Amino acid sequence: MALRRVGAQSPPWVTFLNFLGVSVATVALFELVAALGHRVPGKVGRTLELLLFLVPVVLPFLPSALIPFFLLVFGMLVACNVRGFQAAARGDRESGTVARAFVILTACLGADVLKELKLLPVPAGLPILGFTVLFLASARSLNDRFDSEERASRTDPLTGIKNRRGFLEACDEALRRHRRSGQPVSIILADLDCFKRVNDALGHAAGDGVLKQIAKQLVGSLREQDTVGRWGGEEFVVLLPDTDLAGAFQVAEKLRQTVANLGMPAGAGSLTLSLGVAQYRPGTDIEETIARADRALYRAKEEGRNRSLVDDSLARPVLDLTDS
Ligand code: GH3
Ligand code: MG
Ligand code: MG
Repeated sequence: MALRRVGAQSPPWVTFLNFLGVSVATVALFELVAALGHRVPGKVGRTLELLLFLVPVVLPFLPSALIPFFLLVFGMLVACNVRGFQAAARGDRESGTVARAFVILTACLGADVLKELKLLPVPAGLPILGFTVLFLASARSLNDRFDSEERASRTDPLTGIKNRRGFLEACDEALRRHRRSGQPVSIILADLDCFKRVNDALGHAAGDGVLKQIAKQLVGSLREQDTVGRWGGEEFVVLLPDTDLAGAFQVAEKLRQTVANLGMPAGAGSLTLSLGVAQYRPGTDIEETIARADRALYRAKEEGRNRSLVDDSLARPVLDLTDS
């Protein structure tokens, strides 16, 4: 109804601007729904978008283009809605937000049409309300999507703990606190012993299950301020703020015992962990600490596995309290 009024009564440049606005809004929604579904509109979609931009140019001179224009807008909104609902049904939360706002917009536009036909005494301005809801929902879903993708880029998809990037960011934060407080910071690098055997005996999927279980146990054995990350395939890394080398060694031993006591799936044999421990040295960076923990871990492997060893590169007696 509103479209017809504008087309019939306004000067050409107002008509042009109004319909260009409708085109831009429709194309923006079309692109948004595609982006939320991790898609790029195909050739047909791109052609329809181009048509939507061309119609307002000819519309002031060719009023008969109004109906095809309206149908094109309507068709693209329906396509957005269908895609949004399909993605929501597949579990995509952000598409669900936009799809619900589409329903509200459709209800507002429908009520406006009934008002124009004098069939429903609703107040004017409902389409504006509908478009505002859709606009806010779009902003909200983009924000949510941005947040969840940010989180995903720092998370290991198999175990749900931090990946290398997320872990190193946690280290940056811990070092900032260390510079203010002067409290020690330590690192443990832990590698599952002979994990290849687990995969060979049970298959890769069961191996994945074991890795998940180990990650959960490690998180459960640590304090809240500690951070555990997946450093590589079957290798985990732990950040211990406010902990010196001796304290970190005790934590490493606790983790080793926890894994040794885990009930493994039949056929996996017993699973053990080798660990290397190092304390952060002021004036260096955390990668240097991790490299020293890695050297200690390498020695633990060489010395027979299933043990924790501390970094021995500091000018002090080597601390090796392993009781295995
Ligand atoms: P070592 O005691 O010397 O560490 O022996 P290892 O067998 O644990 O070490 P190696 O480096 O020889 O092999 C690592 C194994 O870990 C082989 C690889 O298939 C497995 N692995 C790495 N990442 C994953 C993963 O994501 N899932 C599964 N199931 N296995 C993995
Ligand atoms: Mg290993
Ligand atoms: Mg390894």
